[in-house]
Amino acid sequence: MLSDNIRRQFPVFAEPVNKNLAFLDNAASTQKPAAVLEAIDRCYRTSYANVHRGIYRLSEAATTAYENARVITARFLQARQLEEIIFTRNATEALNLVAQTYSQRLKPGDEVLLSQLEHHANLVPWQQMGKRYGFTVRFLPLTPDGRLDLDKLDEYLTTKTKVVALSAMSNVLGTVTELKVIIPRARALGALVVVDAAQMASHRPLDVQTLDCDFLAFSGHKVFGPSGVGVLYGKRARLEDLPPFQYGGSMINEVQWDDSTWADIPAKFEAGTPAIAEVIGLGAALEFVMSLGWQDYMTYEDELTRYALPKLLAVTGLHLLGPSTPQNRGPVFAFTIAGVHPHDLSSVLDDLNIAVRSGHHCAQPLHRLYNISATTRASATIYNSKEDFDRLIEGIEKAKRLFS
Ligand code: PMP
Repeated sequence: MLSDNIRRQFPVFAEPVNKNLAFLDNAASTQKPAAVLEAIDRCYRTSYANVHRGIYRLSEAATTAYENARVITARFLQARQLEEIIFTRNATEALNLVAQTYSQRLKPGDEVLLSQLEHHANLVPWQQMGKRYGFTVRFLPLTPDGRLDLDKLDEYLTTKTKVVALSAMSNVLGTVTELKVIIPRARALGALVVVDAAQMASHRPLDVQTLDCDFLAFSGHKVFGPSGVGVLYGKRARLEDLPPFQYGGSMINEVQWDDSTWADIPAKFEAGTPAIAEVIGLGAALEFVMSLGWQDYMTYEDELTRYALPKLLAVTGLHLLGPSTPQNRGPVFAFTIAGVHPHDLSSVLDDLNIAVRSGHHCAQPLHRLYNISATTRASATIYNSKEDFDRLIEGIEKAKRLFS
């Protein structure tokens, strides 16, 4: 089975303390395969120095490894040019980069279209820039089944819309959004298209050319890579057109006492010393994902979704947020249990060695829409098994008994 072979590649599960751990908090962060740990270790042990600066062997080795990660990332996203890949701290920073720089040219009367399922990372930056520059932020509504309501698209996507910024996959509902339908319509109106792929990056292949987005963001730590590194893809012309986001070393061309000029992309957007070892680790993580083969990967995850979904829906008192059918849906399940607080459920599950997350999952307005403040979320990836979900359901039944 795919998950057995894959699980063996993650040293964390071989630790005696983690024996039989059902790790179902992958929408927050995934575990790291040996290939990633080794790449980071190799970097620090054999070839660590600051990048892009030193004219000596060690610095050149570090720069080559760092830039090789850019090559791998470009391949992972099907980007046309290496300069279109910017390394950031995480998806949040990548989305802030776009929102804080592009918003400078928006004005009252302009609209930015998001959706009701956005993570705070793709909501708060636009909301705050809207207050600063006077534009309006609108939210495409959801259907009762937790999908974007495409029937309302004409009403929300108009000639006033200057930016369409959408999550490719919800970290709460598991919904895979219909970007293929929405992006061409946004393009036809000349709107800038921003994709938050923080969840999608570890569930489906991304192809920025086919998607035809202007910007796309994701984080390393959710796709088997280290924390501290994220990616912003941007079309060359769009990136060149934006002002810098942060100022300092590495991003300049020339500095005078009273003014400066900027380096070409990608350096223009990589101010200061980057997360060198983490970027190299991210390269190893993306190679790991690509080496598995997306077809097998998606087939396996789909099998997990098709197994877990009806079982969860059959639990008495369980209310699942998001699509109740497996089409265009990933293995992310947020739910409430009548009579059991999500935090109590998490701690009962923790006693059974099952790791899930409870809270609002950085989507407070979405939770408010459902009139709840918190859910329990179980989110799976390729090292999870059907048995993990069997144990989850047994754990839920136990919590129901304890709290009824
Ligand atoms: N968008 C989505 C859909 C997410 O799930 C997350 C992380 N939960 C983010 C953005 C932000 O990612 P990060 O915290 O790594 O910046």
